[in-house]
Amino acid sequence: MRRDTKQREVILKVLRNTRSHPTADQIYDDVRKDLPNISKGTVYRNLQVLQEDKAISALNINGTQSRYEAKRESHYHFRCEKCGRVFDLDEPVDKELNKRVSKKTGFTVSHHQMEFRGLCKDCQ
Ligand SMILES: [Zn+2]
Ligand SMILES: [Zn+2]
Repeated sequence: MRRDTKQREVILKVLRNTRSHPTADQIYDDVRKDLPNISKGTVYRNLQVLQEDKAISALNINGTQSRYEAKRESHYHFRCEKCGRVFDLDEPVDKELNKRVSKKTGFTVSHHQMEFRGLCKDCQ
């Protein structure tokens, strides 16, 4: 197997096994358990490729550090302002919103991301 493919698979495995929406640095720490010699640059580059392949998605809202997750059906997020954890919300995504924005602006809307903020149960 090509080295690149192997690296990408390990990164994807890390993301499929978590619900914590890790940052690139956290992914790097995890990937190193399997591939101790991998460089941070390689992890960043592969995250980029995986994103282009639409195998993973990135959450980068309001200029915060990007967080990644394996591609799933689109969903909203809740970010705790104290501990910084990001949770998936079991809330239907409003597809009408894309249509409304598209109609108003003439832009082609592919999707939207929404993030709710506040305090998680542990931090309240
Ligand atoms: Zn919290
Ligand atoms: Zn998510």
